[in-house]
Amino acid sequence: MTRIAFIGLGNMGAGMCANLVKAGHDVAAFDLNADAVAAAVSKGARAAGSVEAAVRNAEVVVSMLPAGKHVLGVYFGPDGVSDHAPPGALFIDCSTIAVTDAREAHAKAEASGFRMVDAPVSGGTAAAEAGTLTFMAGGTAEAYAQAEPVLKGMGKNIFHAGAAGNGQAAKIANNMLLGISMIATSEAFNLAEKLGLDAQTFFNISSVSSGQCWSMTSYCPAPGPVPAAPSNRDYRPGFAVAMMLKDLHLAGDAARAAGADIRLGEMAEAIYQSLSDAGHDGLDFSGVMRRVKGEI
Ligand code: NAD
Repeated sequence: MTRIAFIGLGNMGAGMCANLVKAGHDVAAFDLNADAVAAAVSKGARAAGSVEAAVRNAEVVVSMLPAGKHVLGVYFGPDGVSDHAPPGALFIDCSTIAVTDAREAHAKAEASGFRMVDAPVSGGTAAAEAGTLTFMAGGTAEAYAQAEPVLKGMGKNIFHAGAAGNGQAAKIANNMLLGISMIATSEAFNLAEKLGLDAQTFFNISSVSSGQCWSMTSYCPAPGPVPAAPSNRDYRPGFAVAMMLKDLHLAGDAARAAGADIRLGEMAEAIYQSLSDAGHDGLDFSGVMRRVKGEI
């Protein structure tokens, strides 16, 4: 049993917090939204009315916040986590944020005598609720060893990706690949259809040929072949265009700073940006199929 403060009880954090309670931890929950705190309490967490109240006695602080500015503000802003957590506490930030923000957070945490792990997740709200998230963690071996048992309460596959910020690096490189492969899969299905194949026939062939990929076999953007995919429910998310675009912006910024050639990543960023500009932020990201077909 670990004394945990959980900050950020939104779409993802709610399920993650509930799973930490289920795993037998003593969890104090805080969010700016009082309804989110009440929902966490109904699942067995203790209510905290402020960051200070949440972290005062915590051995571990877990956060699941929208973006880097929220993470840096909650941990290191006025009356933040680092002002009130016990010396030596471990900070585990699971939000998806820029590699540079994550590395800044690590440096500030260490300068104030805390340990930190950046541990973004792969998997959506269903995996957060089921406790089957994949975690990719960055930080020292000691910090990772301390974080691992806590992460196991919320996820199925846990990886130590290396030093500070490497969890975020793994996350955005993976999601850039996903964004590109979803567009590529949509183009391939559209081309096959225009040349006379139906989606199921092309799926049967390509899913056991060299074009096979997760976007095709687990999340097919053409309706039919993968019944659970959002393409069969009018592209309701799932994983929305706005979230894919956020990750592609993070990948683009990181690549430009690192001098990495990501021409296809930038093209994917532009395509998802155009969907967002046209008002399709809430569409599942596999709805890019409709753009490829010229429907939207
Ligand atoms: P969300 O907006 O539903 O939840 C964020 C929560 O943080 C909200 O409840 C909000 O009130 C709270 N919050 C914001 N500022 C705060 C502050 N200063 N103090 C306390 N609470 C504060 O977002 P989400 O969908 O849960 O996503 C969280 C993170 O997980 C994001 O970084 C996102 O990119 C990442 N992520 C999301 C998914 C997904 O499918 N939703 C999948 C993988 C990763």
